[in-house]
Amino acid sequence: MATTNVRTEAVELLRELLRLNTVNPPGNETVAAELLRAYLEDSGVACELYALEPDRANLVARIPGRGGGPSLLLLSHTDTVVADPAEWSVDPWSGALRDGCVWGRGALDMKGHVAAAATAIATLAREGFEPVGDLVFAATADEEVGVDVGLSWLCSAHPEAVRTDYCLNEGAGERVSLGGRPVYLCTTAEKVSAPFRLRVYGRSGHASMPRIADNALVRAARLIERVVALRSPPRLIPEAEALLARLGAVPEPEELENVVAGLPLEVRQMVEPMLGFALSPTIISASERTNVIPGLCEVVCDCRLLPGDTPADVEPAIRAALGEDSYDLEWIEVVGGTRSPLATPLWDAIESFLAEDDPSAGVVPIVSPGFTDSHFLRQAFGTVAYGFLPMRTMEPDLAARLVHSADERIAVDDLELGVRFLRHVAATLGR
Ligand SMILES: [Zn+2]
Repeated sequence: MATTNVRTEAVELLRELLRLNTVNPPGNETVAAELLRAYLEDSGVACELYALEPDRANLVARIPGRGGGPSLLLLSHTDTVVADPAEWSVDPWSGALRDGCVWGRGALDMKGHVAAAATAIATLAREGFEPVGDLVFAATADEEVGVDVGLSWLCSAHPEAVRTDYCLNEGAGERVSLGGRPVYLCTTAEKVSAPFRLRVYGRSGHASMPRIADNALVRAARLIERVVALRSPPRLIPEAEALLARLGAVPEPEELENVVAGLPLEVRQMVEPMLGFALSPTIISASERTNVIPGLCEVVCDCRLLPGDTPADVEPAIRAALGEDSYDLEWIEVVGGTRSPLATPLWDAIESFLAEDDPSAGVVPIVSPGFTDSHFLRQAFGTVAYGFLPMRTMEPDLAARLVHSADERIAVDDLELGVRFLRHVAATLGR
C-alpha cells in the first residue's frame, strides 16, 4: 500500500463495514471492531479493544504523540438503528455502490464517518506521521440506545483510553445557505434535556354524572394549551451571536425578536432553537375506565433548555403560564447541555481547511437540540468536542431524510471530502 488513494480505500472499508449487521439492539459491534483492528494494524496503528460485554467491543487506536502538544480524538460509533429491507431499493447490508453513492444502513449515521476517520489515521500512519500529541481513533458501541457499554462506560472505566484535548464527532457538517452565503454548520453545544411531569388534580366521580365530579383530564387539557402557547423569551447565547454575526450585525437584545422574525424561514428554523427553551407535551395518562371520571391526570412534557441553563431558570415562566390551578410540577431528570468554546485551535483547523478547499464558504456554530456522545467527553475531561464532518455533494434535506430511514447512502465525493478534512485537522493540530 505504497500509494495512497484515500477515495478507493475509504469506499472499500465502508462497504465492508456496511455488510456487518450492527443493528442496536443488540449491537454486536465486536465484528466491526475486529474488522477495523485488522485494517488499522495492517497500517501499523496500535489498537486496543475494550468490552464490558464480549459482543459489544469498543475499539481505540492511537498514533502516540512526540509529546508537548494537544491530543485529538476522531470519535465515531459502529452501531446503527434497525432497517426494514422491504422499504429499501437495495439490501441494507449489501454495501452497494450505485449512482456515486455507497448504500446501506449506517452509511450516514455513521459508518461513513467511521470509514473516513479510520482511513485518515491509517494513511497518516503509513506516511510516517508523528503528531505532537496523541492522535486517537475510537469506534464505539452503543450510541443509538445507550445502556452504558459505549463511550459513557469508556469515560468512567478506561478514561486513559479516551481522555483527549480535542475531539471531532458526528453532529453536523452540512453546507447550507445563510443569507445567500454558503456556510458549513458545526455543532459546538447541546441543549439540556429536562422533561417534567404535571400532576393535575380534580375529583373523581361516575362518568354518567359529569356535573358532580371535577374532571382532571379536562383541567389538564387547559394546562396543556397554556404550556404549548408559552414562548421562551429570546436570549442571545454566544453560539447564536456568532451565527447571527455571519448574517451581518448582531441585534441589540430588545431588537432580537423582530430581527429573528424577519429572517428567511430556513434561517429562522436554524436560529430559533438556539434562542430559548422548547416545550412539547408527549405523554398523558388519566382514568383507565370508561365510566370513571379521573381525579388525577399526569402529563409528561419534553423540555429542552439552552446549554448551561437549569430547570430553576425556566420554572417561574412555566408556572406563570400555567397560572393558578390544581397541579404539581416535578422535574424528571436533567441530561446533557454541555458546550465547548468557539475560539479554539480546532475551530481554526476547520476554517483553514475550508479556506483551501471551499474558499467562498464559512463555518458557523450551532446548538444541537439533541444529544451526542460529545457530551460525555466534555463532562469527563473538559474536551473541546465539535460535531463536524463536511458534506456538500448530497443536499442537506435529503441527508436529513435518509438518516434512520430507508435507502440511507453517502456520496462517495462526500466520503473522500471527509477523509481529506480529518487528515488536514490531524496534521494541523499535530504539527
Ligand atoms: Zn449517530
